Amino acid sequence: MNSIINNIEIIKAKTTKINDVDFDNLKFGHVFSDHMLECKFKDGEWQAPKVVPYQAINLDPSAKIFHYGQSVFEGMKAYKDTNENVWLFRPLENFKRLNISSKRLAIPELPENYFMDGLKTLLQVDNEWIPKKDGSSLYIRPFVFASGNGFHASPADEYTFIIACAPSGSYFSGKVRVLIEEKYSRSANGGVGFAKAGGNYAGQFYPTQLAIEKGYQQVIWTDDNTHEYIEEAGAMNIFVRINDTLITGPTSDRILDGITRKSIIQLAKAEGIPVEVRKLSVHEVVTAAKDGSLKEMFGAGTAAVISPIAGFGYKGEDFDLPEFEDTYASSLKKRITDIQTNKAKDPFGWRL
Ligand code: PMP
Repeated sequence: MNSIINNIEIIKAKTTKINDVDFDNLKFGHVFSDHMLECKFKDGEWQAPKVVPYQAINLDPSAKIFHYGQSVFEGMKAYKDTNENVWLFRPLENFKRLNISSKRLAIPELPENYFMDGLKTLLQVDNEWIPKKDGSSLYIRPFVFASGNGFHASPADEYTFIIACAPSGSYFSGKVRVLIEEKYSRSANGGVGFAKAGGNYAGQFYPTQLAIEKGYQQVIWTDDNTHEYIEEAGAMNIFVRINDTLITGPTSDRILDGITRKSIIQLAKAEGIPVEVRKLSVHEVVTAAKDGSLKEMFGAGTAAVISPIAGFGYKGEDFDLPEFEDTYASSLKKRITDIQTNKAKDPFGWRL
């Protein structure tokens, strides 16, 4: 039966796939909920968004997304607490960042209510898909791409905005070993590194494959100019703890302004942890690893929240991080996930 919520038309799926899903053994982003939000840009404006059954997209072979990679996306999560209330974590930040990314890729920006009301309506319709199990969540993928046609290398005249959802377990299992990159770059000054542009990720796959062949799970990107400064990981910002100080690089037009990153900075400061946002050289990290002052390294991002790093490789040498209890990574992860899942008070007003 079709209906309207928040002024948004809902076309219901005829059947549900939910009974085929093993919610106790969810991988990350492998199964998709019954519905998606869809909204088209044509004739110079965004058309009314609709909730429709999750389905394949029909595109012309000349659609510009295929040729010129004009696409941007976001990643966020919805959580269900023990009373079955649904929570989002700083969703307006994702909305704003999607438009920052769109602007850089010459994609028309979305109105806030299309994103926010569309998202809330979709979550109402697919409420049953939001996992209740601790550590699980509904991963939400808003994305915008050039669905307009033509081989001319110029911005498309039609775009499609979709929000699709995947009930998911945790992203990484266990600690990761990372390789500090010396040759390849993910972004450059004046480029699109600060945007969540699809092409940024495609460009990372080959160097990451090389790192995986060498026994690492992730690449730590360094600056494109000198390869001397730590920038970020594949889909995470990086934090390093030297003695008791937590250090992360400043954002720039090469680095994604991560929502987890900025939340961790705020949270750590509130917990009394000394935090420094400054350039961090590979030399400083290697020296700290050698003299024992390097205590922790971890990635921070929506998918994994905090992903501890067990060790890193650099210029053919391997370095291990110490193993100990009561790490910043574990206490900060608990603080942030307790806020996200409504297990703790939210003094920052992040939960919505
Ligand atoms: N850097 C990159 C390149 C990413 O793709 C992500 C994931 N969005 C992050 C950092 C972390 O950002 P956030 O905390 O907003 O998920």
